[in-house]
Amino acid sequence: MGSAAHPLVSFVSLAILLLALTAGCEKSASSSISAIPPADSIDFTFRRKSAPQPIKIVCTTGMVADLVRNVGGDEVEVTQLMGAGVDPHLYKASPGDVAKLSSADMVFFSGWHLEGKMSEFLARLSASRPSVAVAEGIKSEKLLSDEQGLHDPHLWFDVQLWSLAAARVKEALARFDPERAEGYEQRLADYQKRLEELDQYAREKLATIPPQYRVMVTAHDAFRYFGRAYDLEVRGIQGLSTDSEAGVRQINELVDFLVARKIKAVFVESSVSDQNMRSLLEGCAAQNHPVVIGGELYSDALGSEASGASTYEGMVRHNVDTIVKALE
Ligand SMILES: [Zn+2]
Repeated sequence: MGSAAHPLVSFVSLAILLLALTAGCEKSASSSISAIPPADSIDFTFRRKSAPQPIKIVCTTGMVADLVRNVGGDEVEVTQLMGAGVDPHLYKASPGDVAKLSSADMVFFSGWHLEGKMSEFLARLSASRPSVAVAEGIKSEKLLSDEQGLHDPHLWFDVQLWSLAAARVKEALARFDPERAEGYEQRLADYQKRLEELDQYAREKLATIPPQYRVMVTAHDAFRYFGRAYDLEVRGIQGLSTDSEAGVRQINELVDFLVARKIKAVFVESSVSDQNMRSLLEGCAAQNHPVVIGGELYSDALGSEASGASTYEGMVRHNVDTIVKALE
């Protein structure tokens, strides 16, 4: 039976979800977010006798959607909520998104509070359908945290970590749809092989940057996993989330840092306003140390079809090539 058979039911569930969403928005920012349980403890009892074909899946970011497409193949129909240039830290679900989420068989998102404005809603959604935070099944000793102990959500920048997230997607799909587990297994193996090559590519290219130039300054602190994995020092004007104003003090400190270290290039991000970056460049120019924009990086969103960065692999290659060109 299709959802069209029960328009009233769909309407009522949509209304409830909208209500839940509104309630989520009114809650104070400090209210604790209940983390989505790891895939092995996600409730799959919502599953019908055999999985629908294709499985209707809603994903938040392009990176997550790309993972699910690669592992799910033809068995899944993926709807992606956030397009090119969209900042997941600030993104709020529209009523249209709520309708899409409410009719999905499964929901995949990044997690660790990347989708900051949607966290409460996503947690609520997990009561009615399998909802998988792909980044949250990775062992905490592999994760980076800030001073408050919050995990850094940007782990797609370490290709080896993102490969672990791919395994978590496979796990969830195989549990939801055990009849086709072998196919998910095979596609995961193929994809992980490509990610291994991608990791190798990044490693070899980035190794060509001379030691004194191995510093990346970006609009927000998205590149710490990248720096750890590929041995670069990273600095962001804003913190882990773009959901905070960068103060004059932070910008001035970075200006001093750029001048002292004689750094010639910084990077803008496709999903973050370059206003702070312009203040930074003005500050450096005022100290007679000209700094240029080394290029645009894809940090928290994939690029458009035409950009060559509309897939995760394309995104990593674009970023690596841009960084190497600007810093070598
Ligand atoms: Zn970010």
